[in-house]
Amino acid sequence: MKLVTFDPGHGPRLGALARNWVIDLTLAWEALLVEQGTMDATDRAQQELPSDMLGFLRHPEAMERAQDALRFVARIAANPSTKGPQGAPFVFESEKVKLLAPLPNPTKLGCIGRNYADHCREQGVELPDSPILFAKFNSSIIGPGDPIQLPAISDLVDFEVELAFVIGRQGKRISEQEALDYVAGYTIINDISARDLQRIDRQYTRAKSLDTFAPMGPVLVTKDEIPDPNSLGIRLELNGELMQDSNTSEMVFSIPYLISFISQEITLYPGDVFATGTPAGVGFTRQPPVLLKHGDQIAVEIDGIGRMENPVIGS
Ligand code: ZN
Repeated sequence: MKLVTFDPGHGPRLGALARNWVIDLTLAWEALLVEQGTMDATDRAQQELPSDMLGFLRHPEAMERAQDALRFVARIAANPSTKGPQGAPFVFESEKVKLLAPLPNPTKLGCIGRNYADHCREQGVELPDSPILFAKFNSSIIGPGDPIQLPAISDLVDFEVELAFVIGRQGKRISEQEALDYVAGYTIINDISARDLQRIDRQYTRAKSLDTFAPMGPVLVTKDEIPDPNSLGIRLELNGELMQDSNTSEMVFSIPYLISFISQEITLYPGDVFATGTPAGVGFTRQPPVLLKHGDQIAVEIDGIGRMENPVIGS
């Protein structure tokens, strides 16, 4: 499934993207309950298939119900005129709704630094002996199409396309062999970075947590659609020009290794998100350096997940 958080015009809802349609999963589940003769379908649907992504990921049975809801929608041959039990539509043309960041309020937002060998080489730094874990603040998250705002306090704003994994099950001291059992799915994060602040602070938090510095999306793809997360093409285009073009097989530390490493003394919870590092081709190591400027258009793309575009607006 390609899970989304979308706004049909009255606030965020959990949905699934299926071809050119976005299905409101909670309302579809409610319609299924009504068909089965359930009396308090509205309340039960909200409890059994929460309409927000974090509540959905925390619910042990919601993923299976979402599959059932989609099968139900396919069975009733849904079209744009299909109405939910309260007369509310639950199938939308994807063009007509706004996609938001799939998980705007993760319980952790972590990142791994220097996790591609070619990215280490372009910076002239050694390969790390063990993963470099750091955090970004949630307040930096924006969705597909939302503008990246250049801050007044930095002159060196850069881009980093990254594959992010989303945790779906609580765990600690997870083995590499079992690691992917704890993953709900995958999304894309553009780890926007103020290189000058990174240098001044000698660590990453502020430089990578400024408002709008974490575009996330366009979808959260469930793990059944990504059999091997370490074999995906990963790309970034700036104003139509290919700047980063690599494969997640180039990671220094694989996703199972990272999950095992992080979870040794840090409990992982459903709704935790970790971006796994960026390949070569970022702007600040180029000659001459390429820095983001007002009017730029960035597109990030990972095979099996999709493509997300964000404009850059100046300070
Ligand atoms: Zn990064």
